Amino acid sequence: MSDIDCDVLIVGSGIGGLTAAIAARVAGLRPILVEKQHLVGGSSALSNGALWLPNNPLMIREKVHDSRDAALTYLGNFVADDDPGSSLARRGAFLDGVAPVVALLEAQGIPLQRCEGYSDYYDLLPGGNAAGRAIEVRLFDANLLGPWRRRLRPQSFRTPARASESAELSQMGASWEGKAKTVQVLMRALDARLRGKALLSAGAALQGRMLLAALNRGCDIRTNAGLEELAERNGRVTGAVVNFDGWKRRINAHYGVVVAAGGFSHNRGMRARWQDPLVDPQWSSANPGDTGEAITAMARVGAALGWMNEAWWVLNFPGGGKSGSHRIVPELHKPHIILVDQAGRRFVNEAAPPMEVGRACLERNRKVPALPAWAIFDSRHRRHYSFGSALPGRTPRAWLRESHLRRNATLEGLARQCGIDPGGLEGTVTRWNTMAMRGIDEDFGKGRSAYNRYYGDGGHVPNPCMGMIAKPPFYAAPLVPGDVGTCGGVLTDEHARVRRADGSAIEGLYATGNCTAPLAGPHCAGTGQSIGSSAVFGMIAIRHLVR
Ligand SMILES: Cc1cc2nc3c(=O)[nH]c(=O)nc-3n(C[C@H](O)[C@H](O)[C@H](O)COP(=O)(O)OP(=O)(O)OC[C@H]3O[C@@H](n4cnc5c(N)ncnc54)[C@H](O)[C@@H]3O)c2cc1C
Repeated sequence: MSDIDCDVLIVGSGIGGLTAAIAARVAGLRPILVEKQHLVGGSSALSNGALWLPNNPLMIREKVHDSRDAALTYLGNFVADDDPGSSLARRGAFLDGVAPVVALLEAQGIPLQRCEGYSDYYDLLPGGNAAGRAIEVRLFDANLLGPWRRRLRPQSFRTPARASESAELSQMGASWEGKAKTVQVLMRALDARLRGKALLSAGAALQGRMLLAALNRGCDIRTNAGLEELAERNGRVTGAVVNFDGWKRRINAHYGVVVAAGGFSHNRGMRARWQDPLVDPQWSSANPGDTGEAITAMARVGAALGWMNEAWWVLNFPGGGKSGSHRIVPELHKPHIILVDQAGRRFVNEAAPPMEVGRACLERNRKVPALPAWAIFDSRHRRHYSFGSALPGRTPRAWLRESHLRRNATLEGLARQCGIDPGGLEGTVTRWNTMAMRGIDEDFGKGRSAYNRYYGDGGHVPNPCMGMIAKPPFYAAPLVPGDVGTCGGVLTDEHARVRRADGSAIEGLYATGNCTAPLAGPHCAGTGQSIGSSAVFGMIAIRHLVR
């Protein structure tokens, strides 16, 4: 086995890995970034590309009110001060890393903008911010990557739409603003095609820009190169054994190793060991490299683990056929739709953050069958709003023919078709309709928060998230708790150092992103939390290792 030498070995080419690579070059180091797949970008490239960065410089420039204290208070809603995965010091370090990470990206020429109005997920909690703390990159022409263009993980959807445009796009069948935004995005796509641009948005634009910046900085990026084992000497991590397409080589890392290798969504064994046995890894939308062996490698050198039972849950509609499965989020915020268990009862605010709704399904299922849970909606929902890939008013016949989506003239008939208790469903819908007329959800508060309303129908009164389910035909879609990645992993401290169970740091070993225990415990504080914190701790790791 021959050796390669570098200053720092970075494992994984998601947002955490690429941020660390750029930070390392800026610090004058010689990093090697290894990515086990042939494509660069990780789940980060498939995502909406938003970075949740409280009190960020863009907010300050635009005079949007926020503060470090408010953000710290906000994060404190989700985890105890002594949460081993997210100590107070770690949360503070994250907030202190926000301005430097924005400066780092901007110094590479990466243009950033705010996701205006994309509220924190829990804006009503102390410290919450309804104006939105997330930022995103501008669109990116992948041609700028030259030969590396083909090695960037492709975008998960076709249209070049930014995260901050998703709410307006979800209104394409309901408002003139939604229609205008749709036309704008289509024109943008057409214009790009005519000009020969390979226009990317969201996570693909983020990762395309990060990759370009890393290449411009002279980063050594090696694909088809997977970490197998960490190398240790006297309790210090000194490098790793990396498998280059079947050829193992030892990489010696003078300063240390930064692991940014994502979670374990597609690892059946780890899922079965740590998570609800009913969760099928096939429901995950994470990139195929999300297989967890880097977490295992860190555990082998003594890393303690936390929140391994958790994932970034999001409900999935297994549409089947060519259309595949669909993450269902804005659909549930709209009027004329509820989510019920198989007894026909609601059990959660449908417009709550996706992670909470997904977990609620799993928890409900322990008492009442709720796998699948059923989205129940009427013809007005179908006419005005998209559902998965089905545009407003256009329901794929195959979905109905193959019973992926059920349709019936009566609620009772619909319930029988789905195996839902008809009496339970009738009772729930009657109560829902009474509450919808007044616009107040006395049971779960749907439509109360700015985040609920962000994806609601602004033109619908009195509550943009509540409308009667009364106009036949009625529809039912089975939804299961999928995810966009697991979020449990090694415990890290405020310097991104990996910790042992006794709290001590493993010298030379750093980690960030989905292979670490998350910043807000089993909650997601706002869109882009995982991406924002992975970037910040990728940078912090490098700063600490060269200190
Ligand atoms: C469809 C989709 C939508 C999403 N939407 C959102 C959203 O709206 N908001 C949000 O906050 N998050 C979202 N996410 C989640 C978010 O993208 C991830 O949580 C985040 O990007 C993880 O970043 P990371 O730095 O941990 O690395 P990742 O992007 O997970 O990349 C890790 C990389 O490491 C590589 N790797 C793994 N093991 C090894 C090894 N042994 N050796 C070498 N390389 C290895 C993998 O192949 C992968 O390329 C979404 C994800 C998906 C898939």
